[in-house]
Amino acid sequence: MVLDNLSSSLKNSLKKITSALFIDEKLVNELTQEIQRSLLQSDVNVKLVFNLTNKIKSRFKEEKPTKEAPKKEFLINIVYEELTNLLGKEKDDIKLSNKKPFKIMLVGLFGSGKSTTIAKLANYYKKRNYKVASLGLDVHRPAARQQLKTLSDQVGIKCFIDENEKNPNKIYKKFEKQFKDFDLLLIDTAGRDSLLQELIDEIKSLNDLIKPDERILVIPAELGQTAERQAKAFHDSVNITGIIVTKMDGTGKAGGALSAAAVSGAKIKFIATGENPNDFEVFNPPNFVSRLLGMGDLEALLEKAKEAISDEKSQDLSKRMLKGHFNLVDLYEQMEAMSKMGSLSKIVELIPGMSQLKLPKEVLNVQEGKLQHWRFAMDSMTRVELEEPEIIAGDRISRISKGSGVPASEIRDLLKQYKMAKKMMKGIQGKDPETLMRKFKGKFPGM
Ligand code: GDP
Ligand code: MG
Repeated sequence: MVLDNLSSSLKNSLKKITSALFIDEKLVNELTQEIQRSLLQSDVNVKLVFNLTNKIKSRFKEEKPTKEAPKKEFLINIVYEELTNLLGKEKDDIKLSNKKPFKIMLVGLFGSGKSTTIAKLANYYKKRNYKVASLGLDVHRPAARQQLKTLSDQVGIKCFIDENEKNPNKIYKKFEKQFKDFDLLLIDTAGRDSLLQELIDEIKSLNDLIKPDERILVIPAELGQTAERQAKAFHDSVNITGIIVTKMDGTGKAGGALSAAAVSGAKIKFIATGENPNDFEVFNPPNFVSRLLGMGDLEALLEKAKEAISDEKSQDLSKRMLKGHFNLVDLYEQMEAMSKMGSLSKIVELIPGMSQLKLPKEVLNVQEGKLQHWRFAMDSMTRVELEEPEIIAGDRISRISKGSGVPASEIRDLLKQYKMAKKMMKGIQGKDPETLMRKFKGKFPGM
């Protein structure tokens, strides 16, 4: 998709949330720093970026997670909403009225993609059963009119051009009567290398004559942040009603053009993502951000994490562990939670980072069997034994082994694992929770 780099760096940042044990200010700070870096790399304006990350931080502090949206979902949702706001909040597409014809005039600098976009718009509305025609009013470049004719033929619409006439107003008048047969007239205009008074005057004059229902500015994504200046200039002089950002496929800087255009006062209507007529879509900020963040994958991941361990429980457990309270009951609860998640190999696939360990299937299966035995063994323990596993020795081990059918050697393994974990936890009290979790996973295969 477009903005691949931004997408993958944002996805990675969000994965941190889903795999984190603690959702606290420290994590939010790390997260917002990463988001800053990603957005700046895609050329979003520094001020916009800082506004966005400050908003995320303050909302995280001020708003409260709910039962329906516990901390992880809560935080992800804030990030999602603020990115959506950055890109213009909601969809604002062009709605054609019943007027015949509805007139859309495209303006923009030379090479921005106006003519190509005519073919895309034609294709889009033709598919929706509108009778579409194009009108070529770029009289300055010799091949421009022929290019529009070729593009129009490609998508199968009528194209009005006059190769010999130098005055665009006259061309419009010449064909005016015939336009009534069409639902939609797409008007191609001339561009210049820069926004000169000449160009403005020509567009103003056409505007007065044609009275288009929409005046759409076409800007290429590679403009980055300068898109805002251009959009403002066009907006001030010819009062544009919307923007189409083209060449989204050709740059990693498209974040700059999208966010800049969004603040210009005219909304982005469509984006173009390639040279073909089909490389075109309505710009829908919420959907766009969902795709950018890979929300589909993320939802699955969150769903699993939620089932496995409630946020409260994990917070509880983390606190207990940091205080050095950790017993077999905690271990048992963790295991129960893990077993709800399905097979260990599936979990490994879902947890970012874990999948990179590339554990062979046999290892995973053996561990699953082992966890199952440990659970049987714990079912045969008394409450006191679970809470103070240190007292489990000799006779108790044989009793538990008989009761559960689990060999004494495996029960000793369990106790050994438990002691190692406890010792490790004492050693790392007060340390970074993420490091903790990593070590915890390492010592407790299957956790
Ligand atoms: P105009 O001068 O504004 O009419 O611009 P054109 O429509 O002639 O487009 C200029 C060049 O940009 C052409 O070579 C197009 O094929 C190319 N172009 C336009 N839109 C896109 C797009 O979305 N992606 C890519 N990759 N190229 C595009
Ligand atoms: Mg052109």
